[in-house]
Amino acid sequence: MIHLQSYVCGRWEAGTGEPVPLHDPATEAVLGDVRPAGIDFAAVLAHAREHGGPALRALDFPQRAALLKQLASVVHEHRDELIEIAGRNGGNTRGDAKFDLDGASGTLAYYAKLGSELRGNQLADGESSQLGRTPRFSGQHILTPRPGVAVHINAFNFPAWGMGEKMACALLAGMPVIEKAGQASALLAFRIAELVVESGILPAGAFQFLPGSVSGLLDLLGPMDTVAFTGSAATGAKIRSNPNLIRRSVRVNVEADSINSAVLGPDVEEGSDTLEQFLGNVVVDMTQKAGQKCTAVRRIFVPAALVDTVCEELVARLESTAIGNPLDKETRMGPVASRAQFDDVRQGIERLAAVAEIVTGGSQPAAERGWFVRPTLLRAREPDAAVLHELEVFGPCATVIAYDGGAANAADAVAALVNRGDGSLVASVYSDDRSFLEATVRAIAPWHGRVWIGSEKTMGQALGPGAVLPASVHGGPGRAGGGEELGGLRGLMPYLQRTALQGDRTVLSRVIGVDDQA
Ligand code: NAP
Repeated sequence: MIHLQSYVCGRWEAGTGEPVPLHDPATEAVLGDVRPAGIDFAAVLAHAREHGGPALRALDFPQRAALLKQLASVVHEHRDELIEIAGRNGGNTRGDAKFDLDGASGTLAYYAKLGSELRGNQLADGESSQLGRTPRFSGQHILTPRPGVAVHINAFNFPAWGMGEKMACALLAGMPVIEKAGQASALLAFRIAELVVESGILPAGAFQFLPGSVSGLLDLLGPMDTVAFTGSAATGAKIRSNPNLIRRSVRVNVEADSINSAVLGPDVEEGSDTLEQFLGNVVVDMTQKAGQKCTAVRRIFVPAALVDTVCEELVARLESTAIGNPLDKETRMGPVASRAQFDDVRQGIERLAAVAEIVTGGSQPAAERGWFVRPTLLRAREPDAAVLHELEVFGPCATVIAYDGGAANAADAVAALVNRGDGSLVASVYSDDRSFLEATVRAIAPWHGRVWIGSEKTMGQALGPGAVLPASVHGGPGRAGGGEELGGLRGLMPYLQRTALQGDRTVLSRVIGVDDQA
């Protein structure tokens, strides 16, 4: 039985209040608990502002990048131990856990490399432009670290990657972090926090960790602080509407839920590599992390003539997925992470079943004990039913929706359905017809943070659409939260201030840290 603690003000604190239990979702056994309250948030913020921020900003980008490189090594060196914890507390299979952990260490290492190629402690943003009668009076945008605190509120589904990717960007930018872990899987985040603290890599105050509630913390933030939240749209809306954050214009980045799509083009034939790629990616998305990925496909758009074939193929693969103890080597899908998730997913399947036929799976539990849900594929009766485009069932569940692939405007027709997700993180489109791809991608791009294009030529070349890579932005408009993370240097923007400098070009060059070439 582990009693999780917060790491604040340079020490571990147990917290107060009624303990909230942490479970093994495969056995329902209690593994530990968190006392949610009792943290002095004013002191936590002061510690970050007075110690962590100044210490980080005393370093330049390459020096901070070197810290990230060491943090990446710490996570990687403890990979085996962390995989076990992710299996016990998160219901992760070994593959799921590696996806999360390698995502964390890989993203930290990516930003370490990126930062090692920068210099100084500020970045020039774009070119200088002449603003006066001569080039002597110029304008130049500059990006400098904001002297505030980054509060990171993470979802339960990626305890390692979620914390690692946010930390990488904020620390490289020069901001101290306060990491709030999603409670259901907080054991893994807690162990990583212990490793970060034990390693002594980061200066005092640069890293603090909270597994309990953050109620009241947001009321204390100010104009130089940033909140980066990942979680449900409902919680995102609550955070966004916090009166103090509004009044003081605190930056808020929201990564929320999303009804992601996969589109099979009308040209794709049975037995083709493109169909194989599509089927393989859909099955990975539905079963990896038991479907608890913000990027997982929820709506599968298929030309009407291919719906039977696609359903048969998917059913065969989903029904052969080995479900069980996540740490067994043969297991391909574990339980969902918590009792609340289990109830939510089963209710969600029932709501979808009102407008769609269950082709395989369903809301009945997959085992007598533990929070196991069967991989569930539905087939929509009507493509227009609102619930298909509005309800995120955050588990191993997706719905096949037919569209008229024979229509002259098939791309527009399917794009109109895809865009009913009201703003999504990712859509994938599979086709070898370049006109269809071009039209579809152009029509859906404004509604998505990322569009993944699959074709015969790209077969086997890359991770599928469910993987978030640090070089590409992650986030999406509308319902997906309207936020943006990662994407190379773009990922640092929530933590840097852009300022337009106007004046003597020589002075501007000195401020920016480059020699005036004129
Ligand atoms: P959630 O219930 O919204 O919780 C997310 C985080 O917010 C947790 O750390 C939670 O803490 C905290 N929280 C809850 N109420 C809060 C409040 N009033 N003020 C401040 N913080 C609060 O979401 P979840 O169940 O952990 O995650 C699943 C959802 O996240 C899914 O909808 C999924 O699509 C979405 N997600 C999105 C992304 C993305 O990048 N867009 C990535 C992963 C997941 P407690 O755990 O202590 O309640």
